[in-house]
Amino acid sequence: MLRGLILFILFTQVTAGIWGRLCDGNPTNRLRGTDGYGSGFYGAPRGRRTHLGVDVICSDGSTVDAPFTGRMVKMVIPFGNNHAIENGAMLEGSGYCVKMFPIAALRYNGSVTKGEVIGRLLNIQDVYPGITSHVHIQMCDTSVDPTPYL
Ligand SMILES: [Zn+2]
Repeated sequence: MLRGLILFILFTQVTAGIWGRLCDGNPTNRLRGTDGYGSGFYGAPRGRRTHLGVDVICSDGSTVDAPFTGRMVKMVIPFGNNHAIENGAMLEGSGYCVKMFPIAALRYNGSVTKGEVIGRLLNIQDVYPGITSHVHIQMCDTSVDPTPYL
């Protein structure tokens, strides 16, 4: 058990987990830590609310990849604030359903293969200067923590 855990930790140092790399330039799906706007972990406080996904470090404009093989389901509007990074996508397949934002996806339908480029990260720095830019990923069922899949 402990040995397995150690091997798992070692493995996650060198490559992404069950899911593939989410963002070009971050092959291990390293998570956003704490910055001036909060923390990137699942369950982190967001004022009176809770962070229902995880934030994988990603530079503005970087290509974003499909974490698993499946299909693009639809466009999602994550924040309801009507600002510049108000766009994302829902993906489903391989037993998972996720929402990812803020990204401009290449398309919002059709099949995708794990590792395929699905879009680009929008310019988070324009809206939240100094934040650790990231792609947010959450399960469609937000009671589930996606961290183990990363
Ligand atoms: Zn987030």
